[in-house]
Amino acid sequence: MSISQAIEKVEARYAHQPEFIQAVKEVAITIAPLYDAHPEYDTFKIFERLVEPDRVFAFRINWENDKGEVQVNRGWRVQFSNALGPYKGGVRFHPTVNQSVLKFLGFEQIFKNALTGLPMGGGKGGADFDPKGKSDSEIRRFCYAFMRELHPYISKDIDVPAGDIGVGGREVSYMFAMYKNLTREHGGVLTGKGVGFGGSLMRTEATGYGAVYFLESMLAAQNDNIKGKKVLISGAGNVSLHAAEKAHMLGATVLTVSDSQGTLYDANGMDQEKIDWLKQQKAQSKPLCDYVDVYGGEWLAKQKPWHIKGDIAIPSATQNEVNEDDAKLMVENGIKYIAEGANMPLTAEAIDYVRLHRVHYAPGKAANAGGVAVSGLEMSQNSVRQYKTFEEVDERLKCIMKNIHDCAAEASENYGQTDNGYIDYMTGANIVGFKRVADALCAYGILN
Ligand code: NDP
Repeated sequence: MSISQAIEKVEARYAHQPEFIQAVKEVAITIAPLYDAHPEYDTFKIFERLVEPDRVFAFRINWENDKGEVQVNRGWRVQFSNALGPYKGGVRFHPTVNQSVLKFLGFEQIFKNALTGLPMGGGKGGADFDPKGKSDSEIRRFCYAFMRELHPYISKDIDVPAGDIGVGGREVSYMFAMYKNLTREHGGVLTGKGVGFGGSLMRTEATGYGAVYFLESMLAAQNDNIKGKKVLISGAGNVSLHAAEKAHMLGATVLTVSDSQGTLYDANGMDQEKIDWLKQQKAQSKPLCDYVDVYGGEWLAKQKPWHIKGDIAIPSATQNEVNEDDAKLMVENGIKYIAEGANMPLTAEAIDYVRLHRVHYAPGKAANAGGVAVSGLEMSQNSVRQYKTFEEVDERLKCIMKNIHDCAAEASENYGQTDNGYIDYMTGANIVGFKRVADALCAYGILN
């Protein structure tokens, strides 16, 4: 079965899963040259196999709110591929979570994890639970209930979840406590744990810092650098605020962050004090707009950041947040580099538009792989029961991000996609990630 026939099959079978189809197509359109060079992939039906998860668990989560009322949510864990290592990928708590979203994230995760060069397969999980407005006790009860249902399917060598939207250190700790309570195992079954009980230093910072390290390599490839560049960031969560912090540390001017209510624009740039204030504000679930009273700047209610002039965009909120009109605005306003902090933040049309206009574009599976890379380092620290220092982890993260950049750039060149210095990171990253998984599957024969 050819790749196009496999896509038709996915479209017919999963017509109700648009995000998943979008992610599958994005990979499919770029790997044709690799497939042509490896007829064994067709023989072993690698693409057709990889678009179907190994398995999907779906479960109900009953829990009690502060009023003692019973609440019912739905949860899932998608175990997509363990060809390269235990299933690995975050858990998302957000009302928009459904199987389509988790399958797109799990599919992306297979290739992202392969790109890190660490032994990790791909998976993703989550629930349609909305953490907004919930008390700490409600969050705790929900996390306990979620893990009560999830724990039979995971272990440190089978499937290792972590955080994602709505799931940070607090939620991971609650889930870890329930897992430990039920199994009596204190191991590396979750990453992003508290640093005092098995978590890795730098895991919190890793995705945002890693995205900026990736950007540094993109800029260096164009004989450019980040100093003095104007950076637009969307989102104000874990990824966004750490991307802002690293960009500021390296001499860039961070002009925006945003959330579902609007965009915060500070023409003077956000320095460490302002970023620390933002972290505090978000940790207490307080509004971003209060910033204006403390530090000035503008609050642009219900607006995205892309109409503002800048050099670099790091969309770091959620999938499909940048549509074709936003992409046009980015190009009009001088954006030359885009590194995706979020997973699939650009729609297919937006990607086409920015690539057509030769904006240097790094897809999430390459640019935001730093988080899972440090999760991989957390797993190995847990296995040998030792901690690495912040500096050691940071050094490894820098090496991994540079390596992902260089491998993607090399594949873009080798497969004839680099044009006059313009590197096709999307094709390069997909080819490198896909090849690593496909070669393992061929070696296994017809077992996954
Ligand atoms: P957080 O929950 O910490 O933050 C998410 C941020 O995005 C919040 O500011 C939120 O605003 C905003 N946001 C969410 N949905 C929307 C929307 N529809 N419109 C506008 N803003 C929105 O999540 P993370 O920072 O962890 O994750 C952000 C992205 O990065 C996701 O795509 C995730 O999959 C990806 N990612 C995360 C990794 C990690 O290590 N955490 C690793 C790799 C990728 P509000 O508070 O108003 O909802």
